Amino acid sequence: MKKGKKIYEGKAKILYETDKPDLVIQDFKDDATAFDATKKGSIKDKGVINNEISCALFQLLESKGIPTHFVKKLSDREMLVKKVDIILVEVTMRNISAGGLSKLLGIEEGIVLKSPVLEYHYKKDSLHDPLINDDHIELLGLATAKEMKKVKDYSSSINEILKDFFNKCGLKLVDFKLEFGRHKGRLLLADEISPDTCRLWDKKTNEKLDKDRFRRDLGKIEEAYQEVLKRIKS
Ligand code: 5GP
Repeated sequence: MKKGKKIYEGKAKILYETDKPDLVIQDFKDDATAFDATKKGSIKDKGVINNEISCALFQLLESKGIPTHFVKKLSDREMLVKKVDIILVEVTMRNISAGGLSKLLGIEEGIVLKSPVLEYHYKKDSLHDPLINDDHIELLGLATAKEMKKVKDYSSSINEILKDFFNKCGLKLVDFKLEFGRHKGRLLLADEISPDTCRLWDKKTNEKLDKDRFRRDLGKIEEAYQEVLKRIKS
């Protein structure tokens, strides 16, 4: 697969054209940012680890009937994906209170939620990704009601599949963020699923094994990402 022109560079990934117009290469970087990119750093080998974890999780989800943009792993840091038109709605699913939910509702972290909480955020850095609802999505024309019904159904299924999978790896899936896109008229799960986009706590000790180690200066960041990879692979 020929690597062409750079199409887009985000905070954690770069997208490149290929010789096929409907396929792109997603190249994972070691760069890490938090708090609207006011905190910047680098995590050694994060790109390699996140590519491998994402490939494994996309394959798992595909095997359970969730359509994703994943095509194949190309190299340590590169994944071949279907080109999508990203829907500017970030979907957050939460199983345990933490981060944004604790701040929003003034509740402590670590409370197991009676049922999963789904949130939508408008993917717009200049507005700091505000919390939005279905009416806002319709008002802005970000997605149709039919697309959002699918987004919601897929997100709930993904949560059940991933919760069960991580549980078997000795990890609690606290919360995670998903992005969806359109490819040839079909809705696909896109972006990545990794310790950058999920909160993962050790089942026994509640040790944080995700990007909160970077956000909160907890140290042993690379070790945490490696640990997640090791557990997923074993
Ligand atoms: P919170 O809203 O609590 O900050 O984030 C909820 C979950 O979604 C966390 O697992 C977090 O890692 C993920 N998440 C939310 N927004 C972003 C984002 O802009 N970038 C990344 N990498 N993850 C996000």
